[in-house]
Parts: sequence; C-alpha cells; structure tokens
Amino acid sequence: MFNIGCHLSASKGYAHMGQEAVSIGANTFQFFTRNPRGSKAKAIDPKDVKKFLDYSQENHLGRILAHAPYTLNACAAEPRTREFALEVMADDLMRMEYTPNNYYTFHPGSHVGQGIDKGIELISDLLNTILKPEQTTMVLLETMSGKGSEVGGKFEELRMIIDRVELHDKLGVCLDTCHIYDAGYDIISDLDEVLAEFDRIIGLNRLRAIHLNDSKNPFASHKDRHEKIGEGSLGIDAITNVINHPRLRHLPFYLETPNELEGYAEEIKMLKAVYKE
Ligand code: FE
Ligand code: FE
Ligand code: ZN
Repeated sequence: MFNIGCHLSASKGYAHMGQEAVSIGANTFQFFTRNPRGSKAKAIDPKDVKKFLDYSQENHLGRILAHAPYTLNACAAEPRTREFALEVMADDLMRMEYTPNNYYTFHPGSHVGQGIDKGIELISDLLNTILKPEQTTMVLLETMSGKGSEVGGKFEELRMIIDRVELHDKLGVCLDTCHIYDAGYDIISDLDEVLAEFDRIIGLNRLRAIHLNDSKNPFASHKDRHEKIGEGSLGIDAITNVINHPRLRHLPFYLETPNELEGYAEEIKMLKAVYKE
C-alpha cells in the first residue's frame, strides 16, 4: 500500500491534521513540533490526542513524522545553543509519547568551523543524553545537502553518529530526495547504486522515511531548495522510480514541496497514478 503524505500545519492540533491529511488523499503527514524558531511548544491537549488516535485507527493512517525546528543546532560552538537544542528535543520526545510509535526527524546540525569530527561527537553526545530506553519514538537523522558546514551530507557521517550512540536501536534515517541529489548522490541515473551504497554504509534497515521533494538546483550543488514534484532538476521519472523502487516502496513518503493544501492534493493524486500497486 502506498504510504504518502505531506507537511501540514500543526496549529490546529493532531485531530485536525489527521482530517486534513485524509481530505487531500494522504494517509500520513509530517508536522513541526513547534514553530521553526523553536519557541515554546503548544500544550498537548489529551482530548485532541484521543480524537486523533481514534481517527487515525479508523482511517488506517500510517506512522506520522514530527520534525524538530530546523533552527536547532546540536553541534553549535556555543554551549548555550547546544543546550537549547537538547532541551527542545528532549521536550519534543516527551510530548511524542502521547502519540506513541511514531517518528521524529531532525537536521543533525552545522559544525560551524569546529570540524566534521567535532560536529559528529557533539551530535552523538546530545543523542546519548536525550534517548531513553523506554521511549517508543524512533529518532531519524535527516540526510542533508551538505551546504555550509552541515553534518549529514555524506552517508558516512550519519554512520559515524549512529556508531557513537548507545541506544542506536532508537535511531533511524530519513532520506530527503532533494538533499541527497544536491549532496551529490545521483538518484536520477544511479538510484540502485546510491541505495546499495546507503546499504553498505548505513544499512537500509535504518531507513524509515523519505522526504519526497524535487530540487530547484542542479546535481551536487549543495544548495537545498525544494521544488514541486516534476518541476525541478529531478523530474517526474526519477521520482516515479524512487516511489516504486523495491527497496523503498514500502516506506512512508512525505512531501515538503512549496505547496498549499490544494497543490499537495494534486501532487498526491499524480503520485498515486504512477505508483504501481
Ligand atoms: Fe528537514
Ligand atoms: Fe527534508
Ligand atoms: Zn531541505
């Protein structure tokens, strides 16, 4: 079964997101845990959560994906900035337990001149502090485009983070098609080889979610600007191959394309038409 959704606004709560997803033909969705600036999160409303969980079961929604504020930097040079990332993520993970067994993805961070090894060390330290044996949420490292001093533009870097994390059974990876193409993984011509490399270095068993985006920029540009499906440098054929690939087709796909609800509905319709059931 095709598991497809898109990024939705969380401002009206979980139940509203569930209904909105269904209304556009989706069976899952992604949302920010709080506004991207990382301010205080809205209080969890247990009634809203209950309504969502019931609705989700009735409508066979798949696992949902929470996204950490993208402004957090787990490997900042400034201790207070790292502390802030840690506090926000620890709080997010506590809140995620109201809706158990879902995914939480975050951008590993930017080492801002401290070097990739230091970045990896700081990110792993943060994960070793916030991951708990009893949590049901799987935390996903997002593959990045490698712009600036971003950590996670190479599969090897994600592998090194995972290797340093004690509770690595709580860790997975979210692959962003725009990011990896911008990072220099040719998923247009060499999808099989890119996935084989992912498997060799990280292990495809770690891959839990796909951010399905086209890219505004050319191959290996290290830019990270998402484009609508079929309108960017990846194109609809490459994206069709991604969603139908035997090693990917069972995963949940989340659109983060520059769209309002209507545009997302159209993309979902188009993708369903090319997904081979
Ligand atoms: Fe992201
Ligand atoms: Fe993404
Ligand atoms: Zn991006």
